Amino acid sequence: DSIVSLIDVEKSFGKNKVVKKMNVEIKEGEFLTLLGPSGCGKTTTLRMIAGFEEATSGAIKVQGESVEDKEPFERDVNTVFQNYALFPHMSVFDNIAYGLKIRKRPKDEITKRVNEMLDLVQLKGYENRKPDALSGGQKQRVAIARALINNPKVLLLDEPLGALDLKLRKQMQVELKRLQKKLGITFVYVTHDQEEALTMSDRIAVMNEGVIEQLATPREIYDRPFTKFVAGFIGESNIFDGKVKALHDGILDVETSSGTMKVKGSGFDVGESIHVSIRPEYVKVNSDPVEGFDLKGNVKDYIYMGTVVKTSVDLKDNIEIKYSRFEKDEDFKEGDSVNIYWNPERAVAIKAK
Ligand code: ADP
Ligand code: MG
Repeated sequence: DSIVSLIDVEKSFGKNKVVKKMNVEIKEGEFLTLLGPSGCGKTTTLRMIAGFEEATSGAIKVQGESVEDKEPFERDVNTVFQNYALFPHMSVFDNIAYGLKIRKRPKDEITKRVNEMLDLVQLKGYENRKPDALSGGQKQRVAIARALINNPKVLLLDEPLGALDLKLRKQMQVELKRLQKKLGITFVYVTHDQEEALTMSDRIAVMNEGVIEQLATPREIYDRPFTKFVAGFIGESNIFDGKVKALHDGILDVETSSGTMKVKGSGFDVGESIHVSIRPEYVKVNSDPVEGFDLKGNVKDYIYMGTVVKTSVDLKDNIEIKYSRFEKDEDFKEGDSVNIYWNPERAVAIKAK
């Protein structure tokens, strides 16, 4: 029940390989996000699915059928671009109707479908306006309506909210997610914004330099990052480099330049290099040392953010560990000498490459 399959897909521009051995099975009806920094190959991947770009090797299938020999318009997919790509001289109605007009559908069908789309994206009353007379958010809704009018099986969206200001972007994230659920269409969504990806997606493929580093649910990606890159890119994290000193009952003692720490982990050997990632919200502070931890420092700053307080402790090697806590919780003051610890289950052991 995969609706789109990428099998060992690679893409090179000249000598520059920008997508490497990519394997993804996109399920019918899911909201899948390609997330990664600028230049990691997100747009190229989307353009290969759409048919605007040819894969250098590997296969792409839509509904089990290879699409190699199919033109973009023959594929059961449609694309929404960041810059909207609306026809400036056409009204909202004609922009949305375009896909049915070129298919020479009867006039009454076109009117009916366009009205359904205007309803869907909440643009009733705007049908006679030109794109110039619309706000950014409204233009994006027209672009989405235009892409949906042909009932595509898969909608490809390339940073569709990138041009909107923060408030409108948050609002459109919720709207788009609702729309996707309501229609049950598969969305393949591209963004470099990790918060956007966590909010909207059923699954996220985290990309780095043309490679998918992890493909999993937002919760798995956040709680159990596979790689140092994923741990650092998604949310805030404290990441230490160290070596396994001892292991017992699935808990590792790790030696780092900041001191020793404990982390849950399996499949590691004594002496092996390792990264330990711990989220600020799981970092705990105590006046006395805690068994298994030797992480001392002074409380550095105190940033009040409403319900939470963000603060950090300077460890002995000048590495700063961030921690956050609820404002109402009792805590330490700037300059206090403290010991850091955490529940080893909350920390993540990551293989060093
Ligand atoms: P992203 O969308 O993640 O920012 P892209 O897929 O646009 O990344 O680009 C990935 C890499 O491929 C970049 O290094 C970019 O410069 C390169 N690239 C993209 N399109 C072309 C092209 N048509 N010709 C040559 N290089 C390209
Ligand atoms: Mg891009």
